[in-house]
Amino acid sequence: MSTVHLPRTTAEALLADGTTVSIRPLGPNDHRAVLGLHTDGMSEESRRMRFFGVSRNAPAQAADRLCGECPGVLAIGAWAGEELIGEADCELLDDPPETAELALAVADRWHHRGAATLLLEHLVHAARAHGVRFFEADVLFGNRAVLQVFADLGLPVERRFEQGEVRLRVPLDETDERYRAAVDERGRRADVASLAALLRPASVAVVGASRREGSVGRTVLGKIRRGGFTGTLLAVNPHAGEIDGVPAYPSVAALPAVPDLVVLAVPAAAVPGVAEECGAVGVRALVVLAAGLGAEEARRLMAACRRHSMRLVGPNSLGLAQADPAVRLDAEFGGAFPRTGTAGLAVQSGGVGIALLQRLAWLGIGVSSFVSLGDKYDVSGNDLLQWWESDGRTDLALLHLESFGNPRAFARTARRVTRTIPVLTVDAGRSVAGRRGAASHTAAAATPTVTREALFRQAGITAVHSIDELVQAAALLHTQPLIAPRGAVAVVSNAGGIGILAADACAEAGLELPELPQGLAGLLPAGASVRNPVDTTAAIGPVELTHFLRALERDPAIDAILVCLVPTALFTRDGDPAHALLEGPARRRVPIAAVLLDQQVPVRLRDCAFGGALPVYSDAVAAARALGHARERARRLAEPSSAPADAPDCDRRTARSLVDGYLTAHPEGGWLDPLSTADLLTAYGLPLTTSVWARDEDAAVATAAGLRGRGHAGEVALKAYWPGQVHKSVAGAVRTGLATDDDVRAAYRDFTRRFGAELAGAVVQPMAAPGVELLAGVVQDRVFGPLVVLGLGGTAADVLADRVARLAPLSERDLTTMPAELRSAPLLSGDGGTPLVDLAAVRSVLARLSRLADDVPELVEADLNPVIVRPDGAVCVDARVRLEPRPSFDPYLRRLRRPAAAEGT
Ligand code: ADP
Ligand code: MG
Repeated sequence: MSTVHLPRTTAEALLADGTTVSIRPLGPNDHRAVLGLHTDGMSEESRRMRFFGVSRNAPAQAADRLCGECPGVLAIGAWAGEELIGEADCELLDDPPETAELALAVADRWHHRGAATLLLEHLVHAARAHGVRFFEADVLFGNRAVLQVFADLGLPVERRFEQGEVRLRVPLDETDERYRAAVDERGRRADVASLAALLRPASVAVVGASRREGSVGRTVLGKIRRGGFTGTLLAVNPHAGEIDGVPAYPSVAALPAVPDLVVLAVPAAAVPGVAEECGAVGVRALVVLAAGLGAEEARRLMAACRRHSMRLVGPNSLGLAQADPAVRLDAEFGGAFPRTGTAGLAVQSGGVGIALLQRLAWLGIGVSSFVSLGDKYDVSGNDLLQWWESDGRTDLALLHLESFGNPRAFARTARRVTRTIPVLTVDAGRSVAGRRGAASHTAAAATPTVTREALFRQAGITAVHSIDELVQAAALLHTQPLIAPRGAVAVVSNAGGIGILAADACAEAGLELPELPQGLAGLLPAGASVRNPVDTTAAIGPVELTHFLRALERDPAIDAILVCLVPTALFTRDGDPAHALLEGPARRRVPIAAVLLDQQVPVRLRDCAFGGALPVYSDAVAAARALGHARERARRLAEPSSAPADAPDCDRRTARSLVDGYLTAHPEGGWLDPLSTADLLTAYGLPLTTSVWARDEDAAVATAAGLRGRGHAGEVALKAYWPGQVHKSVAGAVRTGLATDDDVRAAYRDFTRRFGAELAGAVVQPMAAPGVELLAGVVQDRVFGPLVVLGLGGTAADVLADRVARLAPLSERDLTTMPAELRSAPLLSGDGGTPLVDLAAVRSVLARLSRLADDVPELVEADLNPVIVRPDGAVCVDARVRLEPRPSFDPYLRRLRRPAAAEGT
């Protein structure tokens, strides 16, 4: 049995009750802890369950085996602070390992908190990385707890009953969606449990509140007090017995009770020390307001939070607010306390937060909770989405994020949450300059546009370009019923020219303007037009308009109404042209947006006579865009959730040994040579054309002669190769359409003359029949992880830049939507009817690349260009693959993020 090694890294994760534990492989230094776990940590009954008997030596033997780095044993432990609370291990039974025998133990006092399940998830991850496909375990019949852990795991479990024992067999299928969903659900619960101290604390202390008015600490303390916090409020200040009417104590340790949440309003240098003090007494959550923590301060702050199981907002945070009347916590120094409502708001930049809170207040949209995430060392947008999903209050989520900690996990969470509540975000850092700003002030690199768009689209998030657009879209989504996915809008205006502009704006926002029934003309003044846009003429009055809108609303061909009014004397009641609209019923069948050309602010929410509100814009473009966003969301909700793309018969093992072999020989990574590239891609069923290596002129001629029978018109392509080569054609290294021995010889001689000693040899390929040249590939984004790209290929690929990208793994639906979204789509699918090329072959290439990207994290770049697609299939004649060493990282494994700023030293 070969020795197996687990990377000696520690991961932190949350138990079901929100406690942070750290998980790492067991080693020789853990012997005493493992022995302690199996003796003091467990009752005799627990030991009997674990060891199937009461042998006195069993605990010592277990400690020897688990900590002795025995060949074939994978063992991991979970620690709460310094205490080992449980372990899970498995022993690989065959070589290469297919099946592993599993065992686990959790200290009695840590039972029923999800420790066993968490350990198992991490062991599943480690075992899969070693190629293990099955876990097997014997469990005593009476060991209900462990049997339950397996039953709830989310993996299919086969049970066989033997005398007094149950033999379990668990297949560790790589892409089991049911398992991922079960892990997600456990993650959500644990996360929400851990955030309760932050967002529903029973007691709060402000450290660093000074007597000086205008200081940050004093301001926050005052806001909490005046905001009417329903729990206990305390202050820490070494020089005062009381601040602003709040009792103050000299230190955290001197507080009369342990607060759930502590707001740190102390300078950066003091943060790690205070955090450690908080942790030591049992505080559960911190908000750090200070900015500019150095690397060592960051590291110490994070270490204290993880060791003592505290969730952290910030640093560089403006604070947070919880508007639930049962809590009423206003622990921020931004603007006015938001009015209680149902919008959740999380921002990375405090300034954006203030602007958004202010605008929501103007609109009259209340807030459920607000968090200024700041530098996001720990709590991130992902956490807040899960909180809002579960708090029973939030029905609209607004996010402002400049960077993503774990984008794939974020995309997955968002995909789920956006099904129940609309999630809107400002896409910050679109431009290179914007990204530079984002990177410098959040200490985390943001990501290129193509990636961000791919992420938002896949996650179902409504991404807008400005704060104003965000608020304008929110006004509609918050007040109006969901638009039908078809998005058919009736545009109505009392001034023809305005109606035409509004119609253009609707078309640009992707909405449709259907023909309207001519019968409606009877409801309008003479001279009116009921084409869409409807021109009511300026002669219309409020009563006629109301009747007309009612009739439109009843028309099943209409999914939304956009009413644009210029103030005419006929409308004025107190000079208010909106009056007619506000008299209507609040509960509408279709969404209505109004545009009043004399309104001074970009958007208002106007109360309707019978409750509810109407969004009123000053500009038709803003209204149309808001409707467009609503329609985009409706479309996505209407889509059945799509299964992950299927890619049968991928030979993972061959790919793995090829990649490991290459990286052993080239520890720093690099480009694979053409033949290894072909081997790797072929293992995943990608349609590489035959490529034969020829190391000199004679070999090239002979090889070409052998291949000529197999290609297009008996011709071959010859491609010079040397290590480090980039683009072949521009360097004159590709010769195509070679028909005779003499052609091949002449081409090779030309290579020798031009590339001299550098030339390592050449690749000979049969010429592929002409078709549409596409490019398909994978790029690894440093932040987002792997993306699958499809585009128009060939030598003009860069000029035309016609590309679509999606995060891997792709869904079945991505396989069809990606080719359809290309500008060159008509080259593939024709004008309807039978497609011009084999689209199934294109889909298969995408699915296989997605699987490859998912399975081989070392693959940082794969470029298949061109993939020549024809009516009868697809073939790739040129591929390049770059590998880089990197620890295998499963984005779905439950663990807390490690902020880049707190990494190292
Ligand atoms: P590079 O991309 O490095 O310039 P390629 O190998 O992609 O070199 O070749 C450039 C172009 O030559 C391709 O886009 C394709 O049009 C054509 N070509 C190359 N190899 C073949 C082949 N085996 N069959 C048909 N056309 C080929
Ligand atoms: Mg190429």
